[in-house]
Amino acid sequence: MTGVALDRRKLLTAAGGLAFVGGVSLQTRAWGADRFSGYPFALGVASGDPWPDGFVLWTRLAPQPLEPHGGMPLAVVPVRWEVAEDERFGRIVQAGETYARPELAHSVHVEVEGLQPFRHYWYRFRVEGAEASPIGRVRTAPARGQTPDRMRMAVAGCQALYHGWFDAYRHMSRDADLDVVFHYGDYIYEGGTAHGAGRYEIRDASGAVFDGRTHVGGEIYSLDDYRRRYAQYQSDPDLQAAQAAFAFISSFDDHEVDNDWASAYDQDGTPPEVFALRRQAAMQAWYEHMPVRRSQFPRLGEVTMYRRLDYGGLMRMHVLDTRSYRDDQLCVRPGQKNCRTGEEAEATILGQSQEAWLNQGLRNDAVWNLIAQQVFIMPLKGVNARGQALPAFNDKWDGYPASRRRLVQTISDLKLTNVVFSGGDAHMHAVGSVPLRDDEPDGPSVGAEFLCSSITSNGDGALRSPNVARFLDADNPHLVLCNDLRGYQTYDITAREWRTDVMVMDQVQKPGGQISTIASFALSPDSPALHRS
Ligand code: FE
Ligand code: CA
Repeated sequence: MTGVALDRRKLLTAAGGLAFVGGVSLQTRAWGADRFSGYPFALGVASGDPWPDGFVLWTRLAPQPLEPHGGMPLAVVPVRWEVAEDERFGRIVQAGETYARPELAHSVHVEVEGLQPFRHYWYRFRVEGAEASPIGRVRTAPARGQTPDRMRMAVAGCQALYHGWFDAYRHMSRDADLDVVFHYGDYIYEGGTAHGAGRYEIRDASGAVFDGRTHVGGEIYSLDDYRRRYAQYQSDPDLQAAQAAFAFISSFDDHEVDNDWASAYDQDGTPPEVFALRRQAAMQAWYEHMPVRRSQFPRLGEVTMYRRLDYGGLMRMHVLDTRSYRDDQLCVRPGQKNCRTGEEAEATILGQSQEAWLNQGLRNDAVWNLIAQQVFIMPLKGVNARGQALPAFNDKWDGYPASRRRLVQTISDLKLTNVVFSGGDAHMHAVGSVPLRDDEPDGPSVGAEFLCSSITSNGDGALRSPNVARFLDADNPHLVLCNDLRGYQTYDITAREWRTDVMVMDQVQKPGGQISTIASFALSPDSPALHRS
């Protein structure tokens, strides 16, 4: 679509007669309002982090998403936003104007307030000189103290675009009852194209390297590289459909920066002060492309991503950051750089401040506590095809057993029976229990863990593959489901029951894949025991 300059009178009519707010004429003149080289909302719209009277609205102006600066001139552009009670925008209840700035890749983050709790709203953006944005739908959170009958949430992540198509998101977008999506991370992958990308290559049925979809450009390092990678992913229509349909609660994992990074360290032995520059670029680009609040604005290269969201009295969600503050990972091979050699008693995956913050936040009266994070929490044994034990998994909570012991102890001390853990990263669906004691996996449990598989990463899956057989064939009595299929999970949450549906795709390496429910699990808030339903 090519941008067509509308005259101001027409635009105001289209905007429902509401004039642009004052004080922007200078900025508007600087912009010129007639220079879009394409439809500026090519990256869609999103909402995030709902609270009882509002949410974040997001878009990024990028008429040519893969071009430098998304095809935008380097000017400040006024952007109008509107929130309505109806899909047709007959009753606009909030509207305002903000600026898309070149410093932030012309991304826009609006924090809307003053709305009604647990209610659907519709939103859109407008700029002079172009058609309005697509329309998004979002639901506010329940009021403090209100316990809704039910809420429904999806969990997703690990969407390696060069491993397949995002049809899972198209199916998700049609699930009209979903209130919100938790995205645990790996929203983008930092590697180059599939061909020659070495460890990230996957194969198709004929054994050839899959190249059905490829990354634009090589491995990403600079802010512009990361922006272009987000722009490529964000151009996907299925991802845009899911984002337009529900609020996202966004976290990051490793691939938003670099595979398996840990605080100041990357996996290649780069000097920390050099890696810090890359991480800073990655964090800024993450902020620019996620519907998150100003509290997640990058400051001096750091993003405080961990945060709490309350769903009235029904659920408290603790979104954790298991990457930014972890001690470096345990070494798993001789000569490995940037890793720690022993199991230091104090090795932490959350860092002291976040751990204290979590312990404090777990003291609450909510019916459910959801610990929403990135990586496997439960201890897992692994074996190879010959039944020989594999080394400990150094990049998950298993690499930080002291951290896990402290968290499990806190939950036990607080007598919480309502804790659910979610995560991803492993590119498999896994369901099980987090035991009170690591060496007693079939003993008492402190909560159920629902580890969500990937949207596409690792490509077409299988019920059983070497990747999951290493856990299934080992002595893991607390692991009740583990498969290597792609998909997402949904949570149906009421005051009486938590239900998780494991959703799987039949294929992702060709477009048009279908989704189905492969298993369902139920929990009651007064016991961590997991029931297959
Ligand atoms: Fe991943
Ligand atoms: Ca990951």
